[in-house]
Amino acid sequence: MRTNVIAGNWKMNKTNAEAVEMLTELKGLVKDIKDVKIIIGAPFTALSDAVKAVEGSQIGIAAENVYPKASGAYTGEVSPVMLKSIGVKYVIIGHSERRDYFKETNEFINEKVKAVLENGMTPILCIGEHLEDREAGKTAEVTEKQIREGLAGITPEQAENIIVAYEPVWAIGTGKTATPEVAQETHKQIREVLRDMFGKVADKMIIQYGGSMKPANAPELLAQPDIDGGLIGGASLEATSFAEIVSAARK
Ligand code: PEP
Repeated sequence: MRTNVIAGNWKMNKTNAEAVEMLTELKGLVKDIKDVKIIIGAPFTALSDAVKAVEGSQIGIAAENVYPKASGAYTGEVSPVMLKSIGVKYVIIGHSERRDYFKETNEFINEKVKAVLENGMTPILCIGEHLEDREAGKTAEVTEKQIREGLAGITPEQAENIIVAYEPVWAIGTGKTATPEVAQETHKQIREVLRDMFGKVADKMIIQYGGSMKPANAPELLAQPDIDGGLIGGASLEATSFAEIVSAARK
């Protein structure tokens, strides 16, 4: 049986002081919840303080991006070695905002996945179709390509430590959620692709749903057999709404 994983993605929000305030509140709200994995993705500037703020709790901190080299002349970038050195445990990779606004390709995303694994952290690989893909009946094709190319060269042993976040782009930040049935159908297809690539390990892999998940719709989404948690944007900015989603993920 898989443990649900609820991850927040703060995106370009929160100063250090705001980050510490929210995490301190969240720590108190979830202190008795041991049967859900909890992750918060924070901007680079807040990571160090965020790691310190969650010390002694079960909350793990994620970076929202990484550059796939250990060090060197890459002005403005942050390496996996740097992230690991401050206690970051997870890295969100290939979010649709990075794919769309910063033109990240599956090949580049694959380099990041490998670099994160090599440094002992867990990648959260985001995939998902645009509205025009879904309307053209191409959801399975698009997500399969993102998985196969994003996870090229990954072994089954490594795959066990990878989280996949299925986020239909048309549902991110729009208030439009995939219905539980539509989301489950895609999650099932995703697990089939993972099974084809990694065999039995696919049954242990976490596939999160992301896209306007809120306390009100989380229980139904999380009740689906192939939905193993959520990647939460807007509703992760506030401790109470995020903690409600964490509670809904208890089995
Ligand atoms: C996201 O950005 O990963 C996300 C799912 O955002 P929201 O929950 O706001 O749709």
